[in-house]
Amino acid sequence: MRKQIAAANWKMNLTYQQGEKLLNEILESGIELRPDQNVIFAVPFPYLIMAASAVAEEQGYEISAQNCNDKSSGAYTGEVSAEMIHTIGIKYCIVGHSERREYHLESNRILADKLNLCLQNFITPIFCCGEALVIREKNEQNQFVQQQMEESLFHLDKEQVKKIMIAYEPVWAIGTGKTASTAQAQEMHSHLRSLLAEKYGKDVAEEISILYGGSVKASNAAELFASPDVDGGLVGGASLSAQEFIQIIKALKQ
Ligand code: PEP
Repeated sequence: MRKQIAAANWKMNLTYQQGEKLLNEILESGIELRPDQNVIFAVPFPYLIMAASAVAEEQGYEISAQNCNDKSSGAYTGEVSAEMIHTIGIKYCIVGHSERREYHLESNRILADKLNLCLQNFITPIFCCGEALVIREKNEQNQFVQQQMEESLFHLDKEQVKKIMIAYEPVWAIGTGKTASTAQAQEMHSHLRSLLAEKYGKDVAEEISILYGGSVKASNAAELFASPDVDGGLVGGASLSAQEFIQIIKALKQ
């Protein structure tokens, strides 16, 4: 089922105690989610078990890892595998965040391997794509994200692709305070959905949640989420404030 999603990406922020407090403040606000809504917290690895236990009784609240390795196991000191994430009961993992692509040189090919490992381990990948400013300035964003999709995703079959989520995150809007306009977001989301429809059929494309990420905040979330192909958001900075993120959850499409 295509879901409306508010996903928090804490990145490398908050102490354990601050993270626990933030989660509790959000959960205590008592927002009840409909069956077609999810709130997902992508927390640092050492907080996954604490966070999973905090949301265990809460309908629709889920926990995600922020990354996994592209190998299944082995001599990769400091790395965390999809299987490890699965075996502690986590069902989501961000794959291909632009910060991973930029600082850890993750290529589309590596991300294809990560997607495979997530799916093999019953983890829903939240696959991030999006163009840098230089690409947008040349108006080549559609071809650019198409290549990201083709090289990382399009080897999946219909049943596999139905299990993923996509986050369109224009790099120029991440952590910059600049947000894509509602029209820019809708245009790209509709492009992504049409690429999925061409490859897998309209019925499959209609089932996949496509989130927008890039300086989403309480003040712009409702407008962004109102677009027909925007199924919620992946939120960095604003997810570190309980009050901001609560408003973002409330802005999900009704
Ligand atoms: C992100 O980290 O995925 C993100 C979109 O960050 P921000 O909301 O801070 O732009």
